[in-house]
Amino acid sequence: MPAKFKNEPFTDFSKPANKKGMEKALAKVRAELGKDHPLVIGAEEISTSDKLYSYNPAKPSEVIGIFSKANAELAKKAIETAAATFETWKNVPAKKRADVLFKAAALMRKRKFEFSALLTYEVGKSWPEADADTAEAIDFLEFYGREMLRLAAPQPLTKVNGEKNELRYIPLGVGVVVPPWNFALAILVGMTSAAIVAGNTVVLKPSSDSPAIGFKFFELMREAGLPAGVINFVTGSGGSVGDILVAHPKTRFISFTGSKEVGIHINELAAKVQSGQIWLKRVVAEMGGKDAIVIDNETDLDAAVQAAAASAFGFQGQKCSAASRAIVVESVYDKFVEKLAARTKTLSVGSPEIQATYMGPVVNEGSLKKILQYIEIGVKEGGRIVAGGKRAAGEGYFVEPTVIADVDPKATIAQEEIFGPVLAVIKARNFDHALEIANNTEFGLTGGVWTKNKKKQEKAKNEFHAGNFYINRKITGALVGVHPFGGFNMSGTDSKAGGRDYLLLFTQAKAISQKTK
Ligand code: NAP
Ligand code: MG
Repeated sequence: MPAKFKNEPFTDFSKPANKKGMEKALAKVRAELGKDHPLVIGAEEISTSDKLYSYNPAKPSEVIGIFSKANAELAKKAIETAAATFETWKNVPAKKRADVLFKAAALMRKRKFEFSALLTYEVGKSWPEADADTAEAIDFLEFYGREMLRLAAPQPLTKVNGEKNELRYIPLGVGVVVPPWNFALAILVGMTSAAIVAGNTVVLKPSSDSPAIGFKFFELMREAGLPAGVINFVTGSGGSVGDILVAHPKTRFISFTGSKEVGIHINELAAKVQSGQIWLKRVVAEMGGKDAIVIDNETDLDAAVQAAAASAFGFQGQKCSAASRAIVVESVYDKFVEKLAARTKTLSVGSPEIQATYMGPVVNEGSLKKILQYIEIGVKEGGRIVAGGKRAAGEGYFVEPTVIADVDPKATIAQEEIFGPVLAVIKARNFDHALEIANNTEFGLTGGVWTKNKKKQEKAKNEFHAGNFYINRKITGALVGVHPFGGFNMSGTDSKAGGRDYLLLFTQAKAISQKTK
């Protein structure tokens, strides 16, 4: 049995050896940028003439990698190949499957800086943000490997005389794995490794904003000994390739993490039974958020300001868990806004390659435009900018960390996910009113309260409708095994990634009863 699961520690970049390690990795990875990467279906590497480019959002003239766009025929071939490989992979003992994950974790740990450096280039993560992404990916490999061993062991059943009873968790079949770009490594690794360790085979379609990280992980799995065809690596636009993969009659489940709009679309498409399909597809969909942090008057305001800023602006606010609303009790509202604005103005924006940078760019031009538009709408609907509000200097897609005060709870920027460094501050009459406002969106992913009052804490534990709820701390940074992650309502199916319920989503249980006398 492997040692008890422990979270991968974060890197202390103030240590000269670690700083050097990251600098070396940034140089090594930079020298390898711009390569052409194939699709990989079974053991076959395939190039198409229709290309997809991944760019550095901090320096859009820099190509991170070139990828082939799959067409309908290749998408179908990928599902067929996964279906054929399932016939052998499902019979590989759980321990052997888990060992591939443990081997991959060990390899990734050795090359931690390299993975982090590629995250810095491809999606604009600062050093600590990239390091946390890589650490979480290692955690998922270690955690789901152990989870599979737990599920493969004899399961507790009630004993009856004259029968031997057994419950086995068997895999589902072919899965389509569709991750987002924002935890380009961690979420992609978690979704993929959970599905395959349970005995399924998959078609992995990474986000078009981060295919290079996806390919680097795919190569790592090959090196760790994963047989060809268990993961089929397919790039191309979600809209065209995605629909074919999701609708295919041999697709058994879809594991999606991304926006509400795409999640709804996939859920609808997957619900339609296709000709020749002999099951109802299972959809695991983790979607957006409009996460709130409630600030009570009975609190340490300076600590609350720090936590709100960290939750709102870490990785440029591009976390599904990011605070996009601060709901503040009237009596401390003005003080909070003043302190938050001051704190926000100290945050540096620039190239994430530089160690001291706090915020890098947002992921692409479309995202930059959308964020600036939301800021405009926020002001038009009565909001008051107290920090940031503009595009920041530089060739890349840089946005100033922005705080908009006096936002109405029903305003557009208080209801819709912006997915950028924009925090709406909303005034509440009292703590109860703040909770009411917090719950008044269609989402329910993360949330938190800052209060020293035990009664208010208990009330919020019961009433704050969020899958991941925090008290007196930041509302981002969920750890595998510690904070199983997933949201309510339009935030998704509450899969609780990194928890004991997650692997069950990729299995079905078979009960076997044998008469013994
Ligand atoms: P997105 O635009 O919805 O894209 C997610 C993935 O879906 C991408 O791989 C995309 O591919 C693909 N896709 C698009 N259309 C598709 C279709 N018709 N069929 C199949 N796949 C399709 O989301 P994103 O911009 O990558 O990520 C940001 C969003 O993810 C935010 O809303 C955030 O809150 C959410 N998120 C949620 C969680 C959570 O745990 N709840 C975690 C992280 C992020 P292309 O790139 O090729 O279009
Ligand atoms: Mg990019």
